[in-house]
Amino acid sequence: MFNLSTILEHHARTSPAKEALIFADKRITFGQLDGAANQIANGLKSLGIGHGDKVALTCPNLPYFPMIYFGILKTGASVVPLSVLLKRHEIAFHLQDSDAKAYFCFVGTPEMPMGQEGYAGFEMTDTCKDFFMITPAFTDASPIGGTKTMGMLMAGQSPVFESYFTSPDDTAVIIYTSGTTGRPKGAELTHSNLFLNACLSKDLQDLGPDDKSMLVLPLFHIFGQTVCMLASIYRGTTAVLVPRFDAEMVLTLMQNEKITHFAGVPTMYWGLLSYPDTHKFDMLAIKNNLKLCMSGGAALPVQVLRDFEQKFDVPILEGYGMSEGSPVVTFNLKDRPRKPGSVGTPVWGVEVCIMDENGKQLGANEKGEICYRGHNVMKGYYKRPEATAEAISNGWLHSGDVGYRDEDGFYFIVDRTKDMIIRGGYNVYPREVEELMMQHPAVSMVAVIGIPHQEYGEEIKAYVVLKPDTTISEKELISWTKEKIASYKYPRVIEFMNSLPMGASGKILKRELRAQ
Ligand code: ATP
Ligand code: MG
Repeated sequence: MFNLSTILEHHARTSPAKEALIFADKRITFGQLDGAANQIANGLKSLGIGHGDKVALTCPNLPYFPMIYFGILKTGASVVPLSVLLKRHEIAFHLQDSDAKAYFCFVGTPEMPMGQEGYAGFEMTDTCKDFFMITPAFTDASPIGGTKTMGMLMAGQSPVFESYFTSPDDTAVIIYTSGTTGRPKGAELTHSNLFLNACLSKDLQDLGPDDKSMLVLPLFHIFGQTVCMLASIYRGTTAVLVPRFDAEMVLTLMQNEKITHFAGVPTMYWGLLSYPDTHKFDMLAIKNNLKLCMSGGAALPVQVLRDFEQKFDVPILEGYGMSEGSPVVTFNLKDRPRKPGSVGTPVWGVEVCIMDENGKQLGANEKGEICYRGHNVMKGYYKRPEATAEAISNGWLHSGDVGYRDEDGFYFIVDRTKDMIIRGGYNVYPREVEELMMQHPAVSMVAVIGIPHQEYGEEIKAYVVLKPDTTISEKELISWTKEKIASYKYPRVIEFMNSLPMGASGKILKRELRAQ
């Protein structure tokens, strides 16, 4: 089997001087990226890291992320990307859970201060003069010799390395799920899982060698990692790295770097739409350059899709995926009619079906659990055989999402099974209520959850963010909603918020709303 690093090595061989990455004023070619990854691989090898080992990585969207990522892969070890928002005790959990033998951690620089604590809870001290530490801290397992900086690791190492030749079952990445419904689980993805998903992601986006994509989705999350980073490298497209989402920064880069492809989670589209000062930019130039946008990771409200497409004059193709599926499962195709609200059709090599609780496959327009099988399905959850057996049966990955397929074969996500509200014996899917409330002219964003209720078991509550300079009372909004939806579905309680709680991958965290 090939090593996933071949996607980078190919361009380093055939077009070494082509720009692979842009970050601020730095331009890094494919040759330089591969050379740095080779130095890191040689450094890791000299420490005894190789096939079967796990190496964790905490790094914002900086060129160091792909350098280290491919450096680790080349040795045959597996990458364990961790969220940059984790606190000290959470990092300890992940390092232990993944058996990480080494840990790369970005600690901030004078140009990129990472807050008082530094990224990942590390204090910035005089000893952290370089960008990274590689440290066995927090784990008892085979310490590999204390703390090093990146400079120390790479010093004197050759920029040439022969990548480990993997077996089809070898794990490339242990990716932690977003933790939207509970404690994140480590999904083991193989070199071929990611190779094939990156390949189809570049095709679905119709990425060309002269295009420029924006990497603003966090690279530690599967969406940014495969659909943005790996797809761009696979195609030899130049990628512009953005360390954190900020509407003004994104628009500035869209304008100055002439971005052609943008991928985001729904909250980013919402953020761009709500940004009040677009007049400061050459919107015509931005629109002319943009060829395609992609959304995934959570439901894109139809209202946001419509408003964004109108304002930016570019199609947003919505896909459906998850960490366990490397991630892409279904996608809307570029040159085919789309259905607003649909996540499209299964991608090549992946079969999708809707199952009932007994594992029976359902027909068109019947709601059930979305299941899929194919080259994208993970090996399993790392060290969690029971959870794996629960998730994968007879080759079918059970997503935990409710959905249906229409008569034309388009898939629709209704909601997560865990988010369904049962009010007085009736099932209510929050997404349906949210989609409706988003149509109210004063509503900017909304999240609907079930709250405990003595009589009905659960009652429906909506958390609403209003558009700037609008007012509406709870009573008015409730009666507006009541008129348009079945009586057991409309929210009885509304709480107005300035913002909604958001996870590191940009998803609204309903479990935090429920905990209130
Ligand atoms: P956890 O599994 O830890 O609770 P998570 O499911 O949010 O977290 P991810 O793997 O990042 O972790 O996300 C996958 C989930 O995101 C899917 O199961 C689905 O619920 C949701 N999702 C992804 N794309 C879409 C989409 N286009 N529309 C609706 N939901 C989506
Ligand atoms: Mg999940």
